[in-house]
Amino acid sequence: TGGAHDGPRHSPHPDIAEVLVSSDEIAAKIVELAARVDADYAGREILLVGVLKGAVMVMADLSRALTVPLTMEFMAVSSYGSSTSSSGVVRILKDLDRSIEGRDVLVVEDIIDSGLTLSWLLKNLRSRGPASLEVLALFRKPEAVTVDVDVRYVGFDLPGAFVVGYGLDYSEYYRTLPFVGTLTPAAIERGAPA
Ligand code: 5GP
Ligand code: MG
Ligand code: MG
Repeated sequence: TGGAHDGPRHSPHPDIAEVLVSSDEIAAKIVELAARVDADYAGREILLVGVLKGAVMVMADLSRALTVPLTMEFMAVSSYGSSTSSSGVVRILKDLDRSIEGRDVLVVEDIIDSGLTLSWLLKNLRSRGPASLEVLALFRKPEAVTVDVDVRYVGFDLPGAFVVGYGLDYSEYYRTLPFVGTLTPAAIERGAPA
């Protein structure tokens, strides 16, 4: 045995307890989502709104997989105080540079957990008069199904555990891991890579 794609998933990083989604699986899913978006928006132009910082990897890969004309904007909001659970308090740290009035807006999110951030964001963006407003989230956690937000494109449904990688951080670290996984107790305790 020992092919790169079979057998158990050995941890590729000392701080990762378990890989939940491999980089190959993410890459394939991005292509699949991009094909759906391309088909749905054929003949139109998309304004991708990436939610910093978690969505940067999805934005970079998704935008390059799409073929419809598009432009990109970024917004930064804060919903988490500092650690691993949602506070429900949303603040705009960086707003869009331009008007989205009359535009076909696709919000690109990393992960939806409580959905509090997203539902606040959608209400805020809707008030700016876009022609359409949809959401693409690469990951979704179980709690999200209880929230009243309509997410048109979802990549993967994950278990409830806190995960890092592919844009997702713990104390700002681990965003550059090409896969998504859970942290070891030691890494959580340490709060930083060894
Ligand atoms: P929500 O408001 O849906 O609970 O969470 C909003 C934001 O919290 C997400 O966009 C993401 O930045 C962060 N978040 C939620 N779950 C996780 C997780 O498991 N890991 C990491 N690193 N961030 C998460
Ligand atoms: Mg996010
Ligand atoms: Mg974070």
